This record gives sequence, structure tokens and C-alpha cells, in this order.
Amino acid sequence: MAIAANLGFPRIGARRELKTAVEAYWKGSLSERDLTAEGARLRARHWRIQRDAGIAAIPSNDFSFYDQVLDTTAMLGAVPERFGPLRGTVTPDQYFAMARGTKDAPAMEMTKWFDTNYHYIVPEFTDGQAFRLGALKPVEEFLEAKALGIHTRPVLLGPVTWLSLGKAKDAAVDPLALLPAILPIYAEVLQRLRDAGADWVQIDEPILVTDLSRAQRDALRTACAELAGIGPKIMLASYFGALDDNLDLALSLPTAGLHLDLVRAPDQAARVLAAGTDKVLSLGLIDGRNVWRADLAKALELAQAAAGGHGADRIQIAPSCSLLHVPVDLAGETELDGDLKSWLSFATQKLDEVVTLTRALNGADVLAELAENAAAVASRRVSERIHDPKVKARSAAVTAADFTRKSPYATRRTAQAARLNLPAFPTTTIGSFPQTAEVRRARADHRKGALSDAGYDAFLKRETEACIRRQEALGLDMLVHGEFERNDMVEYFGEQLAGYAFTRLGWVQSYGSRCVKPPLIFGDVSRPKPMTVAWSAFAQSLTDRPMKGMLTGPVTILQWSFVRDDQPRSETCRQIALAIRDEVADLEAAGIRAVQIDEPAIREGLPLRRAEWDGYLTWAVEAFRLSASPVRDDTQIHTHMCYSEFNDIMPAIAAMDADVISIETSRSDMELLRVFGDFEYPNAIGPGIWDIHSPRVPSEGEMTGLLRKAASVIPAERLWVNPDCGLKTRGWPETEAALRNLVAAARALRRGD
Ligand code: GLN
Ligand code: ZN
Repeated sequence: MAIAANLGFPRIGARRELKTAVEAYWKGSLSERDLTAEGARLRARHWRIQRDAGIAAIPSNDFSFYDQVLDTTAMLGAVPERFGPLRGTVTPDQYFAMARGTKDAPAMEMTKWFDTNYHYIVPEFTDGQAFRLGALKPVEEFLEAKALGIHTRPVLLGPVTWLSLGKAKDAAVDPLALLPAILPIYAEVLQRLRDAGADWVQIDEPILVTDLSRAQRDALRTACAELAGIGPKIMLASYFGALDDNLDLALSLPTAGLHLDLVRAPDQAARVLAAGTDKVLSLGLIDGRNVWRADLAKALELAQAAAGGHGADRIQIAPSCSLLHVPVDLAGETELDGDLKSWLSFATQKLDEVVTLTRALNGADVLAELAENAAAVASRRVSERIHDPKVKARSAAVTAADFTRKSPYATRRTAQAARLNLPAFPTTTIGSFPQTAEVRRARADHRKGALSDAGYDAFLKRETEACIRRQEALGLDMLVHGEFERNDMVEYFGEQLAGYAFTRLGWVQSYGSRCVKPPLIFGDVSRPKPMTVAWSAFAQSLTDRPMKGMLTGPVTILQWSFVRDDQPRSETCRQIALAIRDEVADLEAAGIRAVQIDEPAIREGLPLRRAEWDGYLTWAVEAFRLSASPVRDDTQIHTHMCYSEFNDIMPAIAAMDADVISIETSRSDMELLRVFGDFEYPNAIGPGIWDIHSPRVPSEGEMTGLLRKAASVIPAERLWVNPDCGLKTRGWPETEAALRNLVAAARALRRGD
């Protein structure tokens, strides 16, 4: 008989209880004891949900107060010196200090977990790095579940992935060389788990779906050889993609089980069966990365093929990866209409899908469940709400000419200079201005109905006008309207586009206590009517200076949403691009002379495998160009990207062919700009000269210095002067002070001093 398994359950709670508790603890209004108790309450609840659903392999140690990578760092006692010496086990204060920093010790770095929007705390390795058992969380949580009568399969982040995700702080340190130092700690944890009664553990090595170096492969062999014989059987989990060229390696490792992501890479099931293995195979058939209901008939076919060749006794049915990346429970979505709701599945529902599939495979009578699933899948396939023939036809008719501006950059540059008449080193900002408590209150009041549409509109107009007057007084050259009407740069557009839906409680952990509620793209996307034109036109009517229209780009809108899974992402992105294209054209027609299309998420969309980069970059760049290209030569297209490593994607950035790109560089002391210089980036650039992530006001001299540095890398006539990013999290006093210095710095360079 096959069994139903799970790899991880969301830890935040259906109502973000974990966020509430952790933030209260940080503020000092919740005691350590109460925080601990709240964690235990959530774990117990989640274990019971899984047990009651019929999951046999239930994970433990998938819970975390902040992040599972940080938990592993704590387990290995790898506490950087600045957070104080490790006495006994890592204390809660030390743990949170590593994540968030203290006034004396900057936080550890944070970055995105593979290709998800979840962020982990990056392990740090220094010269002479020592390790020792610093937390027994995996054992404690196993025992905690056991005391509730629930036998679990503890989850550990594998040693090779943990080391590969870490960063050496001293150049001399090779992270992988630390493997022998951490394996004894993993071994000790496994021994203790064995003694506590664990028969299986899940060891996550998602690094297996990436391009591995020889050293990483060797490290995986060494690690598995050392850990496999200790006692608990190991379910080695790969996810987020195909094992591909690492498949033979994965099969050769001496683990009792192997988990495969068959949502991202369904074909690898056949490859594994053809290769032949006596491992228990965990088939990741239910999408742990998206919110759509599975096509159970299709999944069952795959499962049956595997069971036939391999024997059902050695099959587990599971989600493709941990359910950490989907919202907790669809039951809370009381406002979604019936159709849409019947197409969706959140973590709790995905457990049911796993169990139904397992039971079907085992020959149990689940005909009613399968029929109901088939009906929902079929209704989605043909629904008119999803399929808009006009949108599909327009997208199919796109030609290369639609991706291309009328003239090359040099011609556009002259035309724009004549129309815009800007000084050298033109100054501008990235879009948003401070979203003060007052702005947020007005938005909340409006949402609740306490402020009328007209009242809210009048308020926003006053804010916008005041913001324009301040920019004029500061002497900025190209203005923005301030984005006061926007809650979020994706949600604002999603709410106005057809094919989009929003959830009430569809929260997903982004990092620590921070959760995001990504909108859902469920159908063909189109723009029923202009989205930003009225605001931009109103703003432009108040000033003679050029007002920059402000849009979010198609790739970023795609990247920060849950995307439909019934067509390629590239196709959905193209539909969004066409909607943005119409907006760009309408802004131009309304007299707007410059339009900024933000694409901060271009880089994070890169596939995990290098071989797939080109394919992605081709359609992503095409989508941007499609959105940016309907305009005249003398209309200036800007784009903006936040902190990014640009070095390996420079050709794509240049191919976007924006007239002006603003990037985040101030913290790297213009180092990031060098990549543009070395590449001989052909168009104009605004390297950020003010780090807007901190309330600190940089002096005129400091910014002049940064600009001079920039001018040594990029020809002065192609340099713009701006902050690193939008100003919505800043207060007005520091904003005005910093912008005053920024304008003064630009003037200093114009004078040539
Ligand atoms: N225009 C946006 C703003 O200023 C850009 C934000 C971003 O890059 N993330 O807020
Ligand atoms: Zn930014």
C-alpha cells in the first residue's frame, strides 16, 4: 500500500497567529513563555489537521519562529561572534538578533530561497569557524508531537544545501570544506532522534535541482554515507525542479527514500523507474508552489505508472515541496465566488488531494471525490471567465515590430532632449513619496466606508498637489505624482485588470513575521479601462515640469502573483504586457512625456538552471519591450530595478532598451554601476546616490562624491541623479533634507566643481 506524506505545513497560522505572537514578543508585550506556548499551540493544531486528513508521514521541525535555515544555523551553533558567545543553547534573543540585528550588531543577510518569494537568513562562515550543537529543536518537536500521540517524520535542512547557501566572510574559507565539521552534529541529532523513536527523517537537499559543482556532488556523497547508517531512514527530498544531470547521483546515494518534484518535472518519474532503484519513492504530485486544484485523474495516471513498475509498497504520495509557499486554508475565503473557489486549493485542501490520490492508488472507493475533482477541473478548462478569445487573438498576433521602438536610442535621445529640455545630470525620484500615517489612515477609512469616494479622492488630490509643490521647491527636474493612491505596486494594477482575483486571508510567509498576500491571476488578462491616466494627467496639469507616468512592469506583476498553471508563464506575461502597453499609449496621448515601467523582479524570475536562463530572459525582455514600445521617439521610457546582481544578465538589461534605467547602487559605493560601465551599457542610467532604506540623510558632499565616481564609469551626458528606490517608507523631514542635498549635488556637477 502507498502512503500519504507531507513535506511541510505553513507555520504562520490561518490568521497569521505566529506573526501576531512574534511581533508582540519583539515589542515586549508577550513573554517568552507565552511565545513558546503559542508556537506549541500552532504546531499541535497543524499536526492534528494533517493527521485528521489522513496523512501518514507528518513532518515535524517544519515549524519555525523565523526561518528554517536560521534554525539549522542555530542547531549547528554557527552564531556569528557579534551576537555574543554561545553558552548552552542559542537563546531566543540571540536567535532573533541574528535575523533582525540589534543596535550594535547588524542582522545577518537575507535572500530569496531558490526561486520562491520566501527569504532565508544567510549562514555566515568565518576563518576558524567552529560548530557545536546549539539547539535540539528537531528532537524537542518530535517528542512534543509524540506526546500528543502523533508520530512524525522530522525535517532537517541537509548539510550540503545549508553550506551551499551560506557565505564565507573571509575569502580564505571554502564553505564546503566545513562539511566534516558539521556532520558530527547532524549525526548526533539523528542519534537523538533515533533514541526518541523516529524511524524516518526527511532531509531536504533542494540544491539537487541546481547545477552542481564536483565538490558539491562529493559533499552529498560524503554526507549521505555518514548519515544513512545511524538509524532513522532518510527520505532525501529534492524539489523546485528536475534532478536532471544529478539524477544518477541522487539514485546512487545510500538513502532509503527519494522525493521527486513531479509538478515541475513530471518526466523524471519515468527516468527514475527506467534507471531502477529499490528506494522508497515519494511522488510530489500536488503543487506546493501554487494555489490551483490538482487534476487528480492526470496525477493518478502518473502514480499508477510508478506503482506498477515499482510496487505500491514503496510509493508515497506527497505535495511537490513543502506547503510553506501556499496559504493555509481556503475555508477562510468567504468572498470568492463559487466558481473560482472550486478551482482553488490551499495547504489544507492539498492534504485532502494527497490523501484522495493515495487512496485511489490503493484501490479504495473514492469515485465521488474523483468525479467532483474532474468536474471542477473541466469547468475551469472551458470557463468563459478564464478564456477571452479577444485577448488570446491579440496575443497571438503580436509581431517583432511590436517589441521595437520606432527609432534606435541615439535618435530617440535627440528627440527627447528637444522635447524635455532638461539640464545635464537631470534629477528625479523613483515614484513613491512618504506614505504617512495620514495617507494610510485615509485609505483604511475609505476601505471601511468611513470616508466617501469623493472625500478620499479630494484627500489624494491634496496630497498629490502638495507633493508636486515640494518637488518644485526642491528644484527637481522630472517630477512624479507620489503614488499616494496605491497600496501596493502590484495589487493596485491587479485590482484594475480583468483576469485577477484577490483573497481575504491568502497569506504566505515572505520572511520572518512578514507575510504577503499575492493576487491570483486566474484568467486571460486585459485592461477594461485606463488605470493611472487620470492621476498622471491631473498631476501634469499642476506643473510645467515633465511628470513621469508610473507603472509596474509585466514581469514584476507576474512574478509577485499566483499565476495560472494552464498556460505557460510567458503567455500570461505577454497578456499583462499588452495591458500595460495600452496604458503607456494612453499616458502619451494624455500629454505625459515620460513613463517609468518598474521591473524590480526581472532578476528573481531567473530559472534555477543556467541552461534555462536564455529562454526566460528572451520572453521577459520581450514582454517589457512590448509594454514600452508603442510610443513616439520623443516620449521617454524609464525603468527601475532594485538591488540586483546585474553582471550575468547585462545583455538582457541592455536589450530592454529603456531610455533611462535607475538602479540601486549607493550602498555598494557605485560598485554595481561598474558592471554597466564594463559592459558599455548604451543608454542613460540613474545610479541611486541615497540609500533610502535608512533614515540617515546623506550630505551634499557625500552624494557629489558618489556622482563623481559614477561619472568616471558612465559618460556624464548619460547620467541621471536619483535616490536608490521609492520613498514610501521614509518620513517627510529626511526626504526633503536628502533631496535638497541631492539637487545641490547635481548642481555642483553641472558647474563642474
Ligand atoms: N515606483 C515604485 C516606488 O517608488 C518602485 C518600487 C520598487 O522598485 N520596488 O515605490
Ligand atoms: Zn526599487
